[in-house]
Amino acid sequence: MKLNFGVKENGTVILGSKVACDGMIDEKMETLVFSHAHRDHLEHNYIANAYTLDKSVVMTEETRLLAATYGNTNLETNFHLQTVNPQEALNFNDYSVELFEAKHILGSVQILVDYKKEGKFLYSGDFGAEVINIPESDFLVIDSTYSEMFNKNSWSQESAFNELRQEINSAIQESPVFIVGDPGVLEIALHELAFWDKIPKIISRDKEKKWANIYKSKNFDLPVVLSEESDEEEVRSLKFENYIQTAHNRKNIGDNPGGKVFVLKNFGIDRHEPINKINTNQYLVGLSSHAYGESLFKYIEKVNPSVIVTDYFRGKNNAKTLATSIEKEMGIKTYSSTEVEIT
Ligand SMILES: [Zn+2]
Repeated sequence: MKLNFGVKENGTVILGSKVACDGMIDEKMETLVFSHAHRDHLEHNYIANAYTLDKSVVMTEETRLLAATYGNTNLETNFHLQTVNPQEALNFNDYSVELFEAKHILGSVQILVDYKKEGKFLYSGDFGAEVINIPESDFLVIDSTYSEMFNKNSWSQESAFNELRQEINSAIQESPVFIVGDPGVLEIALHELAFWDKIPKIISRDKEKKWANIYKSKNFDLPVVLSEESDEEEVRSLKFENYIQTAHNRKNIGDNPGGKVFVLKNFGIDRHEPINKINTNQYLVGLSSHAYGESLFKYIEKVNPSVIVTDYFRGKNNAKTLATSIEKEMGIKTYSSTEVEIT
């Protein structure tokens, strides 16, 4: 199918003739917009590439701050980035760009491009089930990461956090506790645990420390994070007693960290319990920052598009299944991005 929007093989999302998102912009386009700071959406070399081609680069301030915690360029001074708040339209010659809160991680947005001639294009980006401000659009590129899950959880996110709080409270009486979660998921979990008046300091690495400080600056309730890399002495003294250590990546705590490990994952739909004991020291905890099932359909209903493309690049297992079920359930023409030739 030939369309003027979709997702290229390298993951770049194309919205009409002028705007690219979350990837490499090419010569013939004008503006590159980023949906959020996860690395399957944003790398510094995408921005450097746009800069060398003299293109505008747009993102939220929170995304810029979070993306500055990785990569090797200085996003504060390099590349003339343009930061914009949600729902403040940026006007260009024959189109405008507007961002809408996506409730996935801090700073994450949906991207709406409104052309005078071509119509409206929306890229959902990754979005959470609680997303509220959903714009109408003629054409939609939708995240398909968790789309194959059409059953409801047998438990709520809130009860999952309550159970996790109890488990960690009792685990830390006996041994150190390690909490591993993807960027954004980890910080929300720490915020929800809300026992940092009792445990004011935890241990992590530089990147997690920076993410914690950014979330704290936006009024999230997180503890002081000491970095093994840059606060060595204080970390050593904290380790005289049982402590909490966190990581964005399982690798960073080693194979046998000597304590109880809680791995936060985007699952839970097929499981009956939010917290699953894998062995004596390992727990898998179901938490989600992606919308799935019913809430995906509700999202699409609000957008009310005439054609949809599902993102195969970031949802290889689900893009085709999702496209088929949207067509069947909602009667809207839907293609997996692999079926689309972008013109
Ligand atoms: Zn993401």
